[in-house]
Amino acid sequence: KGLYQHQSEYLQVVDELIDYSDIDEELTQALEQNNGLERLLQPDRIISFQVAWLDDNNQVQVNQGWRVQHANLIGPYKGGLRFHPSVNESVLKFLALEQTFKNALTGLPIGGAKGGANFDPKGKSSREIMRFCQAFMTELYRHIGPNTDVPAGDINVGTREIGYLFGQYRRLQNQFSGALTGKELDFGGSQVRVESTGYGVVYFIENVLERFQQKLSNMSLAISGCGNVALHVAEKAIEQGAKVVTLSNSDGCLSREQGLSAKLVAQLLQSKERPNLKEVAKQFGAKWHQGAKPWQQNVDIAVPCATQNELNGDDAKVLLTNKVQYIFEGANMPCTSDAVALFEQSNSIFSPAKVVNCGGVIASAFEMGQNAMFYPESYQTVDEKLKKTMRQIHTHCMENNESSYLIGANSFALKKLIHVMNLQGV
Ligand code: NDP
Repeated sequence: KGLYQHQSEYLQVVDELIDYSDIDEELTQALEQNNGLERLLQPDRIISFQVAWLDDNNQVQVNQGWRVQHANLIGPYKGGLRFHPSVNESVLKFLALEQTFKNALTGLPIGGAKGGANFDPKGKSSREIMRFCQAFMTELYRHIGPNTDVPAGDINVGTREIGYLFGQYRRLQNQFSGALTGKELDFGGSQVRVESTGYGVVYFIENVLERFQQKLSNMSLAISGCGNVALHVAEKAIEQGAKVVTLSNSDGCLSREQGLSAKLVAQLLQSKERPNLKEVAKQFGAKWHQGAKPWQQNVDIAVPCATQNELNGDDAKVLLTNKVQYIFEGANMPCTSDAVALFEQSNSIFSPAKVVNCGGVIASAFEMGQNAMFYPESYQTVDEKLKKTMRQIHTHCMENNESSYLIGANSFALKKLIHVMNLQGV
């Protein structure tokens, strides 16, 4: 641990895995044998590189890029790319480790990875973003491929950026292959991929509610974020009759006690630019809370969908005082360790990111399959397969620990990965 003292996000996820797993005698032995635990927690390799690109004023700008290839025990490395000024090695190591466990839970043949750059796309022109993506791929292309490592999108990397990245990969390799997922439908993308993370979150919520004989249509939700995940959770939840009370971004939070309309969400989904939420609140008769988070609201369900550590212990206390019944992590590690501890000790039901937000990587794995077969599948087929896989994940958790989704998920993935590691020899 001393070696990684400065990597707080990475250590946070390592601690959580160890603290919240059912480690019985048999598993302890398996983890100790051949240094299994250390090998599972450390990435196979970290590729770090310079990204030099030309801005609109013909000035050369330099950013740092990374790809963390965590484990390819059960399939090619797989995980998104994030472009954000907060990206660093610790953040990508935590995301790659989480991704490995998440992907193991899906039951699909995908390993774990994550990558990105400390590039801030805010205020950049579309041409600058294209040139940045091309410069990024000019280094990354030699480390990825359909059977090696298959990146996808994440924060600030959507279909537009995946298009630019894929175009550069295709030119450099002279090869049209499924080396990236999250592509447009016109060149190898899969149906449902864009919606899959958010819709998958709602499918998981429905499985949990069914277990407790409750219905989404009777529930109110506080959602944070206003990006791909948040908006698709909101869209699907409203479609299923739930009341979505909030959305937010780094400027603040908008709220409407009676529930946000499907029209407001549709407008935000259609917008190509980063939305001005204050203006949107005004337009749709919602309240605007400058600089605030959504956790003050009195709701049944909280779904943090923005970024890591956005919901802390104080926020958790407010939610619990307001009798929140369920917490579903839509973003990766949005709850701090003290918030997770408070939720786990309470009567509320906490579901961690690795089971809640796997919808995206599930649809990505379907996209890899379709690319390998050169055969696209219909919207309905992919959506049905997504629902079925989310249900299986819920079952995996329950079979491993009925009282905690967090412990159930960690235990299932830990056992599976250590088993595979031993099957493949040391
Ligand atoms: P987007 O870039 O589409 O949206 C991110 C949203 O979160 C934006 O509204 C952004 O607002 C907001 N946000 C970011 N940082 C903060 C902050 N510090 N405080 C308040 N709001 C903030 O990203 P995604 O929706 O794709 O990803 C969101 C989360 O979900 C991430 O943790 C990601 O790893 C995870 N995830 C995404 C998947 C996908 O398929 N897209 C799959 C699985 C997980 P602003 O514009 O102000 O920055």
